[in-house]
This record gives sequence, C-alpha cells and structure tokens, in this order.
Amino acid sequence: MHSNLWVEEKFEDFLGIKFKVEKVLFSGKSEFQTVDVVETKGHGKMLLNDGLIMVTERDEFAYHDMISHVPLFVHPDPKNVLVIGGGDGGTAREVIRHQSVKKCTMVEIDVMVVEACKEHIPQTASALNNERIHLIIGDGVQFVKETKEKFDVIIVDSTDPIGPAQPLFGEAFYRDVFNCLTDDGIVVAQGESSWYAMEIQQSLLKVLNNVFPKTYLYSFSNLTYPGGLWSFTFASKQYHPISDFSPERVEKSGLNFDYYNAPLHSAAFALPSFVNKGLSGL
Ligand code: SAM
Repeated sequence: MHSNLWVEEKFEDFLGIKFKVEKVLFSGKSEFQTVDVVETKGHGKMLLNDGLIMVTERDEFAYHDMISHVPLFVHPDPKNVLVIGGGDGGTAREVIRHQSVKKCTMVEIDVMVVEACKEHIPQTASALNNERIHLIIGDGVQFVKETKEKFDVIIVDSTDPIGPAQPLFGEAFYRDVFNCLTDDGIVVAQGESSWYAMEIQQSLLKVLNNVFPKTYLYSFSNLTYPGGLWSFTFASKQYHPISDFSPERVEKSGLNFDYYNAPLHSAAFALPSFVNKGLSGL
C-alpha cells in the first residue's frame, strides 16, 4: 500500500515533529479528547491524544520502565499500587512485574483510549487483562478524593496539563494523594520537558514541596516527545530515591529491562545544570 501520510506533533507555534504513517488504525473523538492509533514506518504503532504523541511501540519501554521501576525499587515492599491515567496499559504492565504487588488499581478517565489500545496496541494493553490489575474508568482527581484505600505507590501517568489532566498538576490533587498514601508512600508523576516546559516543572515541584517532605526530579531520554530529555517527579513521605535504594534488589528481582538498570536509577537524578538552575530556590 502506498501512503504519503505523515503525522505531525506541533509544539506551540515553532516546532513540528513528523512521523511517516503507513496506516491509520483508529480515529475517534471521546468526550475528553481525540484518540488516534496509527501504524508508523519507523516507530511501530503510535497512540495520539489530541494530536499529541502518547506512546510508540519503539520507545515506550523507556517511559514505562522509568515511571514505574524507580518508585517500586525504592519502596521496600510495594503491595498496593495506584496508576492514574496510563490508558495504554504500559505502566500497569510494568507494575505487575513486581511480585510484591498484589493489586494495581488503574483509574483512566477515557474508555476510548483503553479500548483503542486493547484492540490495536497489545504490546502495552494486553496486560490490562491481568487479574491483579483493577481497571476503573473514572476521574483520578475524584478517585483520590473519595477512596478509603491506602496505596504504597501512586503513579500519575497523565497527559499534559490541559483538559481533564489539568487538576492532576495542582495542589488540591496532591493533598488528596498524600492522604491516600501509606505512611511511607511514594508518588511519581509525568513531569514534562525541561527544555520546553520548565514553568510546568517549576509549578509542579512547588506544589509537591508544599505537600511532601521529600521531592525530586529525575529524567530519561526518549525518542518521540519534543526535546528528547523528559522528566518525572518523585515525592515521598520518607524515602530518599538514592540512599534508600538498594541496587542488589534489582539484581535479585531477576527482572530484565531494556532501559532501566541499577546504575541508571541513581544517575537519572543527576540533572543538567540548566535544570538545577531552573529549579533552584523553589
Ligand atoms: N505517556 C503519556 C504521555 O506522557 O504522553 C501518557 C499516557 S496515558 C495515554 C495518559 C492518559 O491520562 C490519557 O489516556 C488520558 O485520558 C488520561 N487522563 C487525563 N486526565 C485524567 C484524569 N483526570 N483522570 C484519569 N485519567 C486521566
């Protein structure tokens, strides 16, 4: 089949990143966003929400390894985990590789994302059929306000701070997250780009500093989000992400990763100087 179709993610009014599309697999519009799944030439299948790239088969492991294994290897015994967003299933897939995790609740607002991924991106979504994953279609903001459950680790795998994801970057949400974490709980969140979204990182870290005694930013290299260098925030009630991390545990787990490893775990918290400067004094 011959196709001249390209998909382009635009960032503000000065940057566009284009990917060659072989085939459009799904296009829909939910009450929250547009949802597209395309087969690309160089990056495998790709999920886009509102025209922004969420996941590609080629590099999703980097994002999903780093959002999940960093907190799960710092917490000494994570049993009950909550994922907010993450409708493609990649984060929940990594969470349940930890045998200590008895239950992973995932609260995704948009059923269309889950169904499109289950049908077209089994690489990430097939794990959603696992009996240890409890999928709730609903608003994560509401969920953390109302739940009586306590979680060891909460992972906020959200879209950018627009539409329904906007409150996921605010203080009221993180106060509720704090309340539904156990006394030694950890929350990790999608923390945007240091190159292009320093103001969002500053505002998110300010919010976390107001709520949590320990907050950090760590980063990883990705292939498809603008700027290449991408970040996660790590906030915790007790644990330090490096001094409370035991590299031996990674080895003993017997898990095999394509991105994450023990030296990289600690190295990810070493930030470029322009990022340290941008985040100093918050
Ligand atoms: N890896 C991705 C990225 O950073 O581009 C994020 C992946 S995941 C697809 C993001 C999900 O967050 C979307 O499916 C979106 O529907 C969901 N989401 C946004 N706001 C939400 C909310 N308030 N509650 C639950 N899920 C939400």
